[in-house]
Amino acid sequence: MTGRDAIRRAQLRLDGGVRGDEGSGAPPHRSLWLLDALDEPAAATAADAPPLLGAARADVAIVGGGYVGLWTALELKRREPSLSVTLLEGDVCGGGASGRNGGQIHSWWERLENLAALCGTAEAVRLARASEAALDELEALQDEGLDFDLRRDGWLWTATTPAQLGAWEEVVARAERHGGRPYRHLTAEEVAARTGSPVHLGGIWEPAGGTVQPAKLARGLRRLALQAGVTIHEHTRVRSIDPAPAAPGATSPGALTRLRTGAGGTLDAARVVLAAGAWAASLPQFSRRMFVVASDVIATRRAPERLDAIGWKDGAAICDSQMRVLYYQRSADGRVVLGRGGGAVALNGRIGSGFERSPKFARDATAAFRRVYPMLNDLPVEQTWSGPVDRTLSHLPIFGRMEANPSVLYGVGWSGSGVAQSVIGGRILASLALDADDEWSRSGLVDQPVFNFPPDPIRWAGAQLVRAAVRRNGAADDAGRRARWLDRRLAALTPSMPTTEDRP
Ligand SMILES: Cc1cc2nc3c(=O)[nH]c(=O)nc-3n(C[C@H](O)[C@H](O)[C@H](O)COP(=O)(O)OP(=O)(O)OC[C@H]3O[C@@H](n4cnc5c(N)ncnc54)[C@H](O)[C@@H]3O)c2cc1C
Repeated sequence: MTGRDAIRRAQLRLDGGVRGDEGSGAPPHRSLWLLDALDEPAAATAADAPPLLGAARADVAIVGGGYVGLWTALELKRREPSLSVTLLEGDVCGGGASGRNGGQIHSWWERLENLAALCGTAEAVRLARASEAALDELEALQDEGLDFDLRRDGWLWTATTPAQLGAWEEVVARAERHGGRPYRHLTAEEVAARTGSPVHLGGIWEPAGGTVQPAKLARGLRRLALQAGVTIHEHTRVRSIDPAPAAPGATSPGALTRLRTGAGGTLDAARVVLAAGAWAASLPQFSRRMFVVASDVIATRRAPERLDAIGWKDGAAICDSQMRVLYYQRSADGRVVLGRGGGAVALNGRIGSGFERSPKFARDATAAFRRVYPMLNDLPVEQTWSGPVDRTLSHLPIFGRMEANPSVLYGVGWSGSGVAQSVIGGRILASLALDADDEWSRSGLVDQPVFNFPPDPIRWAGAQLVRAAVRRNGAADDAGRRARWLDRRLAALTPSMPTTEDRP
């Protein structure tokens, strides 16, 4: 292979459709959370994070200003304050999933089965405990003065139909078998009292969990990163990641990697961390390891007194047990913010405007809200938005080095559980970027066995079929009917990772 071939083979094109960058036309549709967080005076101006123009150098370059990129930047500066770290964000920090999510925080005990299948039982338990510690770390941040409306009133995993009852039992038993006691069972009366609706028939409570205002958390981490000396360029979309030439005109790859931006800027760095979340799905290495599915969120008018009146008083995170999960919280300012998974599916990892807002799926989420809270039927929905979820077969993130260029590290595929868990992501990616040999670089989440989805367009077409059946199943469950045989069979085709045996 010639030097030029080596360069060509190591080129990575990022084409996932980030909006909000230079010259991308209409401004993106924003979540209520982000609009609220951007109102803060310190965040209103991008003077502290201007677009990258011209040529720059850094020890570590980070692509993506969501939680994962920001936690990685903070962790790198904590471990090596003299390191130069530059983060490039195509939109604004928090413009992606980190500023649009449901704000639910809970541990990874719930995913112990898949963790154990991927990493072995001991590492799975270590990661579950690390995710509990991450919840405490968020609280410590808030205690130090970062305000993101953290309320540790727990995470409620509930049933809103008889068919959903007991969905959590295996998870509780598995955690207990491995020495974890994260959950407490609630009676139907207790869960109805906590949530303010008798539609809840039972559930468990993870006291360590709770809720945050997600965009305030992202913008707060951005502020901390700037204070720690991280250079941030917003509205700077990375279009390609290539080995930098060793010298002007050289034909063989050099030691550095060059990021080229939409506005013609370049950033050369010894290590690159790809923390682009769902937008990484368009890269060939990930195209079959994860698929992108929208999750759709609605927020009602503020009505704290109405929520008080039905007994929904605290900031617990609440979800049900459907396949297209419903997740909701009473926001700190007294709105109902409710989301539903299983919306639009991306073809070839392209994230279009349907991943910012979908009237169809917003109607669907609103109908679900009206079913669970019929006593709030007259409460208007004031804002709706959507976001892309980077879903893997294991429902867990994947970490490693890009095949095309091992100086480029990645941590993507959070599968809808990343608000607290991305603290761990930052540790793992910092260890990989620093070539450290420690519990994080050796974590079983790094260089996992590969589980692939079928290729597009087969996967996309199959997903449409299976998801439509899942939606009809959910509707039948909501209406107290048994779903049709064919729909049950089709829904059962939802791909999942084999978990029969733990790895040693
Ligand atoms: C609607 C919704 C609800 C969710 N609810 C919850 C929840 O309640 N609890 C929970 O734990 N998790 C939830 N999640 C998941 C959680 O939000 C994510 O796991 C977490 O935000 C992941 O952060 P990230 O940094 O990987 O991704 P992101 O926040 O998406 O950050 C990636 C960033 O990379 C930028 N980018 C992409 N490509 C480029 C490029 N080429 N150049 C420069 N920048 C680029 C994007 O603009 C984006 O800002 C939800 C997700 C969604 C979408």
